[in-house]
Amino acid sequence: MSLNPTERLLFYSDLDATLLEARTGSFEAAKPMIKKLEALGIPLILNSSRTAPEMLHLRREMNNRHPFAAEHGGAVCTPVGYFEGQKIPLDHEVKMDYLGLHYKSILHHLIELKDLHDFSFLGFDDMSIPDLTRETGLSLEVAIQAKHRLASEALVWLDRAELLDHFKATLAERGLRLVKGGRFYFVISERADKGGAVTWINFNYQAQDKSRPLKTVGIGDGPNDLDLLNQVDLPVVVAPPRGSRLAFDKPGTIFTEKSGPEGWAEGVEKALAQLGL
Ligand SMILES: [Mg+2]
Repeated sequence: MSLNPTERLLFYSDLDATLLEARTGSFEAAKPMIKKLEALGIPLILNSSRTAPEMLHLRREMNNRHPFAAEHGGAVCTPVGYFEGQKIPLDHEVKMDYLGLHYKSILHHLIELKDLHDFSFLGFDDMSIPDLTRETGLSLEVAIQAKHRLASEALVWLDRAELLDHFKATLAERGLRLVKGGRFYFVISERADKGGAVTWINFNYQAQDKSRPLKTVGIGDGPNDLDLLNQVDLPVVVAPPRGSRLAFDKPGTIFTEKSGPEGWAEGVEKALAQLGL
């Protein structure tokens, strides 16, 4: 798959265990490739389960000025003026678009479900910041950022594991779904996912310049990246630190040998080579 000179290339990337090292969150090994994408004028669009404040913080450290999708695609954040061709300073104000339900509506459903079915779980909204750091082991700074939610609730499941299917069914009746993340479960609108965020962001790039068709690369490692990987032209699957690789069989997919940010850099390098860059 090579890149046609008229085409505009976009890179979509997951964060945890892909661009960020699973345990430490470091992206040191990916830095040269992040710089290379920027030098080539290729937007790196982050697409993660993390909240907007967490992602704004990471984005600043990565010197990234591009749109991004937070909370599994539930909220898309675009720097003001970005698609109008303005020069975007680092840390510029972002505008939020919701692709599913607002946080408040999700909380409302969860409170009702807890009442009706006696489920036992602890949502981030139920916990104070000190509770959250104690329950989850998150640092104070991350706990503050993780509590600032827009489009999904994160929760710790305290009930019997057998009841999860029942919980999922009651969520589905209300247009909600349960996603298993690295450390928590997330409740999010059925209408929002990482693939939908790709479609939405692509639409804006395309509207900005109709003369240049888009070519998209997507990088992820886990089951919650499947809709992202399915939505792009060139999927890249990063190897897990241990255990078996994500089952994904779209022809032409690039699989990395290395994991985490080393695997991410390897995947980006292979994708660029395949595109003739
Ligand atoms: Mg991941």
